[in-house]
Amino acid sequence: MDERRRLSYLGAMGIDVWVPRGHAARPMETLGSFAAMDPTSDSTPESEQPDALDARAAISTTPKAAEPDRAGVPFMGGPSCFDPGEMDWGALELAVAGCRACALCETRTQTVFGVGGRTADLLIIGEAPGADEDRAGEPFVGRAGQLLNRMLAAIGLRREQVFIANVLKCRPPGNRDPRPDEAQKCEGYLMRQIELIEPRLILCVGRVAAQHLLQTDAAVGHLRGRWLELGPQAVPLRVTYHPAYLLRSPDQKAKAWDDLTAVAERLHGLEPRAS
Ligand code: URA
Repeated sequence: MDERRRLSYLGAMGIDVWVPRGHAARPMETLGSFAAMDPTSDSTPESEQPDALDARAAISTTPKAAEPDRAGVPFMGGPSCFDPGEMDWGALELAVAGCRACALCETRTQTVFGVGGRTADLLIIGEAPGADEDRAGEPFVGRAGQLLNRMLAAIGLRREQVFIANVLKCRPPGNRDPRPDEAQKCEGYLMRQIELIEPRLILCVGRVAAQHLLQTDAAVGHLRGRWLELGPQAVPLRVTYHPAYLLRSPDQKAKAWDDLTAVAERLHGLEPRAS
């Protein structure tokens, strides 16, 4: 990537790059600065702090493994998981909209199915709708969503070019963390979305989504920085920090940028899909 472009991308993410006098100035801010956003309030609770590695974590902590980490495979399919079988998009949307599998149906305004290209190469998976998403019926539309849009723009992607979904399709009241039983009841929907989209890559944003998808207690700081694989399709997956967390901890944006560039490089290297 040429230097000017790299600086432009870093500027878009709100990452300052200091260069010697006489060299190119600070990153251009063509897409605005993430850092300018209000870091104090967001609808999604997120605790991403690197913590001690939980003894139960199945994932190796070796950073930047050359080979995908097969330990990431054991995703999903618990006993109380709703099985959408061979549902097509229309049937799946209807099933989600009418879902009453857990108590969140009592408090939601509406379900949040997911949005974007249904044959997208990149699937982004977040945690659960917040208040804004519950109102809009669309994932990542609040402050965290605006940051996600900028993160995507930083690697040359528009929101419509990816598919964005959450582990939960309904908002947990008060923006509490999803409960394991709720995530398990909902996971059949996401599983079917993955089957239908057949994404070439998955970017998992945040602790809750990563821990649920990978069935681990490891912190994002331990999961990010390398390729994992998800589910029976062994879809290459990258974990990064949740945009809500980045709003509160802008010093972590450089790491998120590393994760994004890894995704962008792999995306650009993909062979076109066989039609
Ligand atoms: N946070 C998420 O994880 N998902 C959303 O849709 C919004 C905020």
